[in-house]
Amino acid sequence: MTSPTKKIKPLVAGNWKMNGTGADLREVRRLHTHLSKMKYGCDVAVCAPATLVHRLAAMKFGAKIMTGGQDCHAAEKGAHTGDVSAEMLKDAGAKWVIVGHSERRADVKRGGHGETSKIVREKMLAAQKAELRSIVCVGELLSERKAGDTLKVVGAQLRQSLPDTCSAADIVIAYEPVWAIGSGLTPSVEQISAVHAHIRKALVRRFGTPGGAMRILYGGSVKPSNASELMMIKDVNGALVGGASLKAQDFAGIIAAYQR
Ligand code: PEP
Repeated sequence: MTSPTKKIKPLVAGNWKMNGTGADLREVRRLHTHLSKMKYGCDVAVCAPATLVHRLAAMKFGAKIMTGGQDCHAAEKGAHTGDVSAEMLKDAGAKWVIVGHSERRADVKRGGHGETSKIVREKMLAAQKAELRSIVCVGELLSERKAGDTLKVVGAQLRQSLPDTCSAADIVIAYEPVWAIGSGLTPSVEQISAVHAHIRKALVRRFGTPGGAMRILYGGSVKPSNASELMMIKDVNGALVGGASLKAQDFAGIIAAYQR
């Protein structure tokens, strides 16, 4: 029997975090030029800071480079100064939104927003209502990995963050070990493989056959030099890329892992 994951079209999504002003959108234009010369078998998205979402979408790269936001509020509108709703992102031209990134789940002392999985679930529901696709991030701290709690932590985040109404068309999971983000460290192939297999099992248990078709990205210090090895791991259906998505050449080098 062929594995249902064989048919999954991978996604390589860039997360620009709080980087980039209008001038940096030239990197997306350069990325487009790179991609025009390549044959590759994955979807590509750039999740820009909220200030750039509209301008990025207006570059009209369509399905070739899809536009995403990096967070949305759970409410449609209201007294939430400084926040952006899923409807607003959609209106600005976004197709995707990242929810539950570890930098937002982290507490305020560590520069985050203390977002719980319950909040993440509400944001995903808001994204669904606005017809945005969510990339939901899960991942363990280094202390949790050292304590042997990785699968337990990731399993709980997944269970509590995902609404029952998820479908493969509107959500993507990103496994991002917190200690691998921006650190240059990557887990071993065996470590990634074990977590992705665990996530796949949990998705199939909860959602049945559609759970077998949901994309599971790996994120954490992915770069052109390690992308091919990481993207070949079973149940790794693409990448969420931070630092290396800021430069067109590096990002294209990662997408090249799916070159045909
Ligand atoms: C991220 O922020 O989602 C990420 C994976 O960052 P980096 O690629 O820089 O580790």
